[in-house]
Amino acid sequence: PWRAANAANAVDAAVVAVARCDSARAAVHFGGRILSYGDLDRLADQVACAIARVTTPGTRIAYLGRNSDSCLVLLLAAMRTGTCLVPVNWRLSAQEIAFVLADSEAQWLFVEPEFAPHHVPGGTGAGTGPAGVILSDGLATLTGWAAAQAAAGQGAASLPPYDPAAGFVQLYTSGTTGFPKGVVITNERYSIHVARLGADPARWWIGTRAQDVVLVAMPMFHVSGCGIALEALAVGATIVLLPAFDAPGILHAIGAHRVTRIFLVPAALRIVLELPAVATADLRCLETLMYGGSPITPDLQALADRHLRCRFVHCYGMTEAGGNICVLEQRCDDPEVLRASVGRAIPGTEVRIADPSGRVLPAGFKGEVQLRSPTTFAGYWHNPAATTDAYTADGWMHTGDIGYQDDTGHLFLLDRLGDLIISGGENIYPVEVERLLALHDDIADVAVIGLDHPHWGQVVTACVVPRSGATLTLAAIHEWLDGRLARYKLPRVLHVTDLLPRNAAGKVRRAALREALAEARHVASITD
Ligand code: ATP
Ligand code: MG
Repeated sequence: PWRAANAANAVDAAVVAVARCDSARAAVHFGGRILSYGDLDRLADQVACAIARVTTPGTRIAYLGRNSDSCLVLLLAAMRTGTCLVPVNWRLSAQEIAFVLADSEAQWLFVEPEFAPHHVPGGTGAGTGPAGVILSDGLATLTGWAAAQAAAGQGAASLPPYDPAAGFVQLYTSGTTGFPKGVVITNERYSIHVARLGADPARWWIGTRAQDVVLVAMPMFHVSGCGIALEALAVGATIVLLPAFDAPGILHAIGAHRVTRIFLVPAALRIVLELPAVATADLRCLETLMYGGSPITPDLQALADRHLRCRFVHCYGMTEAGGNICVLEQRCDDPEVLRASVGRAIPGTEVRIADPSGRVLPAGFKGEVQLRSPTTFAGYWHNPAATTDAYTADGWMHTGDIGYQDDTGHLFLLDRLGDLIISGGENIYPVEVERLLALHDDIADVAVIGLDHPHWGQVVTACVVPRSGATLTLAAIHEWLDGRLARYKLPRVLHVTDLLPRNAAGKVRRAALREALAEARHVASITD
């Protein structure tokens, strides 16, 4: 069925439009198969008709599997049926997956067989699970299921009218600060986001364009992977989709598909750039590397500079923002801004800094980052209290991040409110200490946290992964930081480990570190 542009999710409308005027255009490369825009539109319709037979608008449909073209088909089918796709993080434990499935109240579950044993009713897992479970190992099973629904149903399926206010995708946050929260992204708000992608009168920010070949290597259960894929479809670009993060696979795909645009979180970027093969790989086709989601260290920036001759775009985004809030293009002359800023608010989004009482602060002052945009999320699923708390009385969204702006509007992120260390009454931003420690030759990875202390309130604790063969001591760290960092910010506790706990988005789980170390703290050596 044909849908007018203003009566459909803008991503869907774009897919329909390209399918009509340039049907053979490649929409997605996946596992050796190419789906054209015509294919994608047809498959989305077939699956939408099947879904419409077995659901009512508002039904949650979970997808538990790696990235795949069937996930894209399901997303489009959700837009066409007023249902909401819940892509579930397959890297979570069985118990956590059961939490997300139960929290989302998904009535249907499409699951890759590998992840099924725990979630099929009668299987070995804990979850009570959704009523309908479809083992889906790819497009063939998805379309097979759709055909079976059509055969079993009476008459032709009709699609419900378009509901702009309906959530079409529910993405769970990364769970860096606690339990993941279900963020509902509606057709209307996402369509506004899409409409803004191309409309940048100032032209300082270049979004995805129709001629781009976009490598989606981040998981589609996060806004990083899902958002990049949707934006690509929204402009008629071509997606190269990898089932999961795979560093050699990324290098190969860039050359093989002449990829022009990629988004990676810093932890993933590092793994790719540290591959020996990067020295010989042909990466000249790459025009834009976007990175973000967590802070980037100067040595990683230097590594990217060394290997890549493309435009670097640092992004600051958030699930609740439906994607990016700020982007920094490497076009500015100020080296300090290039080194440490996450850029300026994208067109149509406003950013301000406020103190805990809600007072808006001028440039240079540190406080909570707040944003206002018609594209921020409609609400947390089944959690109106948290939704209310997420917005200020005057309609700005809390980010829970601390930062400051310079007088050109460039935003500098410091830390999350919950990670701020208060020691002896002084505020210490872990990221400031981490950035300096990351420059130390013997340190491969570092996280700085505050541990409770009876006298100081909290003590600065450095958790470091040494480079192989190196031995690190607190004294050596103090020597390195001497003159670079105020004395009160120096780490008082050193914790040496071989691996920092990270979530699927590559973010250090500082809360988990705090918990683990709080136990062991009494045996740690606290100097000073
Ligand atoms: P949860 O909300 O469940 O604790 P999360 O906040 O990590 O998880 P996301 O929505 O994936 O979940 O991440 C958004 C957060 O990631 C931001 O609030 C910010 O703290 C951090 N972040 C995003 N981009 C950057 C960046 N470029 N530099 C530093 N931090 C970033
Ligand atoms: Mg968050």
